[in-house]
Amino acid sequence: NGTVTFEDVRFAYDPNRPILKGLSFEVPAGKTVAIVGPSGAGKSTISRLLFRLYDVSGGRILIDGQDIRQVTQTSLRAAIGMVPQDTVLFNDTIRYNIRYGRWDASDAEVEEAARTAQIDAFIKASPKGYETEVGERGLKLSGGEKQRVAIARTILKAPPILVLDEATSALDSHTEREIQDALERVSRNRTSLVIAHRLSTIVGADEILVVDQGRIVERGRHGQLLAAN
Ligand code: ADP
Ligand code: ADP
Repeated sequence: NGTVTFEDVRFAYDPNRPILKGLSFEVPAGKTVAIVGPSGAGKSTISRLLFRLYDVSGGRILIDGQDIRQVTQTSLRAAIGMVPQDTVLFNDTIRYNIRYGRWDASDAEVEEAARTAQIDAFIKASPKGYETEVGERGLKLSGGEKQRVAIARTILKAPPILVLDEATSALDSHTEREIQDALERVSRNRTSLVIAHRLSTIVGADEILVVDQGRIVERGRHGQLLAAN
């Protein structure tokens, strides 16, 4: 369960300026597809369309054969865990932010998710533990820390499909390693569409799509792409 299919997907934010010009690919259930390409190629737009932040201008996006426009927003959002590049957190506690959408989760489950996302050590070091506020009045979290909170939320939600936009911002190598490990753990055995900026994701992906100017210009496994270039 959780096969994602893009069929000749076209999209424009502005009708006079096409961004995606007919993309077709499939992410089979449980597999990882990495999307790489230059800045502005349309990679983040692909993830936004799958989450239905925007509707396609042409073509179709299917989940298990069903057009996502025929799925309610509620079930679409339940099926997809999205970890965007710039995570916006609620001005509340880290615990609240991790639990968001899974209000039935026990404290132990929240803590386990925090451990897997590798933000627990950092949280424990703070005076009020998990009750630390992340907003203006409380602790300031770095971009990488916020992304790990979003990863913890996604781990707790455990959706069949993951959409990960790996951060490009200059993270120190230790933080980058931690985020990478957390992303790898959460994507294991789930259908994953990864906007990839890290070599390890690309090496491990079942398929790599090279996107440029709204088109797939190359595709294959890591070794195949290396051999062709
Ligand atoms: P990438 O993720 O590959 O860097 P994006 O999908 O973010 O590329 O952007 C693709 C193109 O769409 C860029 O030219 C960008 O300027 C444009 N774009 C992105 N978001 C919007 C938006 N909300 N409105 C208008 N244009 C946008
Ligand atoms: P990133 O490239 O870091 O993924 P975004 O996806 O947010 O960042 O944006 C990609 C490009 O789209 C950037 O060049 C940004 O300036 C442009 N962009 C984002 N939102 C809009 C928008 N609402 N209108 C026009 N351009 C936008």
